[in-house]
Amino acid sequence: MTRRCVLFDMDGTLFDSGIDFLGIRSQLGLPQDGRPILAQLEEATPEDRARGIELLHATEAEGAANGRLIPGTAELLAWLRGQQILCALVTNNSRRSVDAIVARHPLLSFDLILTRDDAAAKPEPDLFLLAMEKLGCNPAASAAVGDTHLDAMAAHRAGIREIHLISLPEWMANVIPVNVEYKPANNLADVHSGLEAWLLHEDASGSRT
Ligand SMILES: [Mg+2]
Repeated sequence: MTRRCVLFDMDGTLFDSGIDFLGIRSQLGLPQDGRPILAQLEEATPEDRARGIELLHATEAEGAANGRLIPGTAELLAWLRGQQILCALVTNNSRRSVDAIVARHPLLSFDLILTRDDAAAKPEPDLFLLAMEKLGCNPAASAAVGDTHLDAMAAHRAGIREIHLISLPEWMANVIPVNVEYKPANNLADVHSGLEAWLLHEDASGSRT
């Protein structure tokens, strides 16, 4: 039987870095067009790209040093571990930031951590596909938890159908394609309930029980 896994986004899902991505965009003159900042910077001049990457790294380092775990994180991870479910962190943040955050917060422990330094960032499916391959889980036995349209689109493209999104802003909901189904949640307690239902009603091959 395939083991189940839950693939977690980090920023805004389990960790509140306090990063103001809208503020970064306005400082760099980038539009809010639904794409990650790094993807937008690929089209900038070399000077603007270098300035943007430097600002992003500095802001991420500040967020890693000053942020906090989102309430319910430790409880949810402990519960999943008790259910023998593998847990992975799949983040568009950098390996450097994630290492700093995990070192400061021992309760953030995972079977696998993947960052944008490991594969193409979300909304590409690569990070999710790599996580499932490394954990030995198929998409039907995998759930994704995030807080943005990027998480939903990447998970869907990777074949994952159990997708939970926390506190999704309306503008993000509007850019998620209509065929991408997800379960809205207000907080990690809602995600916990949703994952309990997933465990009860689906077997690892994805067929209804
Ligand atoms: Mg996030």
